[in-house]
Amino acid sequence: MTGLSRRRLLGAGLAATGTALAAGGSAGPRPRLPADVPVAVTRPAAAPTTSPPAPTPAATALPQLDRPVFTLEEYRRLVPGPPFPGNAVALTIDDGPHPTWTPKVLRLLDRYHVPALFCLIGNQVLGHETVARDIVAAGHHVANHTWSHPGKIDHFAQDRVQQEIDRAQNKIYDTTGKLPTIFRSPGGAVSPAVFAAAAQARMVPINWTNDPRDWTRPGTGSITHRMLAAHPGQILLCHDGGGDRGQTCAALETVIPALQARGYQFVALDGLPSSH
Ligand SMILES: [Zn+2]
Repeated sequence: MTGLSRRRLLGAGLAATGTALAAGGSAGPRPRLPADVPVAVTRPAAAPTTSPPAPTPAATALPQLDRPVFTLEEYRRLVPGPPFPGNAVALTIDDGPHPTWTPKVLRLLDRYHVPALFCLIGNQVLGHETVARDIVAAGHHVANHTWSHPGKIDHFAQDRVQQEIDRAQNKIYDTTGKLPTIFRSPGGAVSPAVFAAAAQARMVPINWTNDPRDWTRPGTGSITHRMLAAHPGQILLCHDGGGDRGQTCAALETVIPALQARGYQFVALDGLPSSH
């Protein structure tokens, strides 16, 4: 997909039938919302010093879902793009950016040419802006993981969820020039209010298929074992923030080359076409 077409904000034609969220997929024409507008944002060469305000989420809201994405197949049903290879897996990395662990993970991903989706916490971007920009500069994608990573977001009213999303969205955009279109709810917790807020902010809620529970620090061997149980089509979860992630880094040192040796191909979750 060209940069030009990626910057065209296309219609939000989600249907209960599983039609892609935006035009550009392979499933034929889809209805456009009247609020379709181009995203008037240029790709920054480096850290933006002055950014235009993020597009108003309300102008481009998506239809509300009733469950998050768990697999690559479900993702591709909602987010247009070429089919994933049959041996694809996607790596998602939550709770950063972190000044110690994120650079270690970035070096590892670079060594094995693995793209990843970093699910950023807004108040962790705050103070670690350079790390956040390093993620994007390395070619990885970023998702919105709320401002403060609240423990029970599924108990929140929609306006409170919206505040968590919008504040993080603004910080990520101001820092990296990227406007996430993927939402990773803390703990994967979802509710009608969470889905409504994500839709209002034009974001696809994504959970995961494979959770090695690395954030509990169960030991490098346990994390490795669980991640090596991954199958093609799965979305893998691990963490670069929220505590000492030495076990996660050590596990990834084994897991990434082992999955590649098995023939698995790491693919990027890059969000809706308006992401830039
Ligand atoms: Zn998290």
